[in-house]
Amino acid sequence: MVGVVVPGRHATHLCYDALYALQHRGQESAGMASAHDGQITVVKDNGLVSHVFTDATLRALIGSEAIGHTRYSTSGSANWTAAQPVFRSTPDATFALGHNGNLTNTHALAERAGIRVTSMLSDSDLVAELVARAVVEGVSLEDALVDVVRGVDGAYSMVVLNQSGTLFALRDPHGFRPLCLGYFGTKDEPTGWMVASETPALDVVGATFLRDVEPGEMIVVTPEGYRSRRIVEPEQTRQGLCIFEFVYFARPDAYLMGRQVHSTRRRMGELLAQQSSVDADVVMGVPDSGVPAAEGFAKASGIPFGYGLVKNRYIGRTFISPDQNARAASVRRKLNPLREAIEGQRLVVVDDSIVRGTTTRALVQMLKDAGAREVHLRVSSPPFQWPCFFGIDTPTRDDLLAAHHTVSEMNEFIGSDSLEFLTLENLRRAIGVQDECCDACLTGHYPAPVPVEIAAGVRW
Ligand code: SF4
Repeated sequence: MVGVVVPGRHATHLCYDALYALQHRGQESAGMASAHDGQITVVKDNGLVSHVFTDATLRALIGSEAIGHTRYSTSGSANWTAAQPVFRSTPDATFALGHNGNLTNTHALAERAGIRVTSMLSDSDLVAELVARAVVEGVSLEDALVDVVRGVDGAYSMVVLNQSGTLFALRDPHGFRPLCLGYFGTKDEPTGWMVASETPALDVVGATFLRDVEPGEMIVVTPEGYRSRRIVEPEQTRQGLCIFEFVYFARPDAYLMGRQVHSTRRRMGELLAQQSSVDADVVMGVPDSGVPAAEGFAKASGIPFGYGLVKNRYIGRTFISPDQNARAASVRRKLNPLREAIEGQRLVVVDDSIVRGTTTRALVQMLKDAGAREVHLRVSSPPFQWPCFFGIDTPTRDDLLAAHHTVSEMNEFIGSDSLEFLTLENLRRAIGVQDECCDACLTGHYPAPVPVEIAAGVRW
């Protein structure tokens, strides 16, 4: 997710490049909206950023202000109509909205407003509808946004652009999903502003990181500059950045809470080696996020690091594919073993997580078929035992291998020779946090309310 305000320049090419840098956050659909001449233009479709946008569509997106979004659906339809930005037009305001995260009280929100929840395409669509209704009643777009999100539970980082080119960037009081602010030009004489889910999006377009958008904060950006407004007071916020942003989700070159993700992953591997060593010939990581952890494991254990898996860069991430069949089928398409590096070897294979176990089992089988003598699996996060309601698609406990199996049963199911997980204490130590991150899927302690109907698996 990205928002750009660059007076006197075209925002959409910057937005496009930034979206490219954030493609890993969602591969189902992509979209952009720009403001020009009192109007909003939206282009969005299913597919990768490179598929959705052509020279012609980019030329249609005129304006010095733009927002962009890549989607991976955790609620609502995976159909193209649910692609973002969501758009609403009222007599007083036209706006486009992009949302990263997942809301947990959508049914109650819809019911209170007399909206049939099934008539909405997604939780983001519902927020846009509630905001549009408030605007129709005479509330300013800014106040409507604040009022509506104050009634929302769950995870949201949002960018909203109105027809005059004002950009609003909001982050929920827990800050489940990252959002940062940067500038173009110099700090003393900025020539533009940018918000993005991750810092590499700033890097690729030459913007400079200024700071994270705080949990519970809204940033309002106009061509004249930016100001900050509280959605809730700081004492009502509680840091809750998703711990899996560090383990898996974010790019390794991203900075989150002031920490470079790559270094934290290496440290996870080092601590994993210290707590769960094994006699083996070579350590290898499952690309991409397992590799820095494997490097850390090799360094701490003294076992040589090697490459044993080649990744097809053109296949999407399995974890964020929208259905189980797509996930299982894509493992073999995505990873191919380097037979010469594997044959006859006792391998330590470091992966970032085990969610359903199906992809890991296929991976271990693939390594054994390639001649591995032993496969010792080391996981750089604790067992994923509880569903996430804040932006990762694991809606019920039934899907989670660790929810119903001991580590030894998991080892048997996966077919590895041994299996060990990083402890929560060591994961926190690797990142350098105490309890500032959400770790509900590892502990079952949810920092925000989780409604019964979603917990029971009822979805849109
Ligand atoms: S429940 Fe897990 S995956 Fe979801 S936000 Fe919390 S730490 Fe992240």
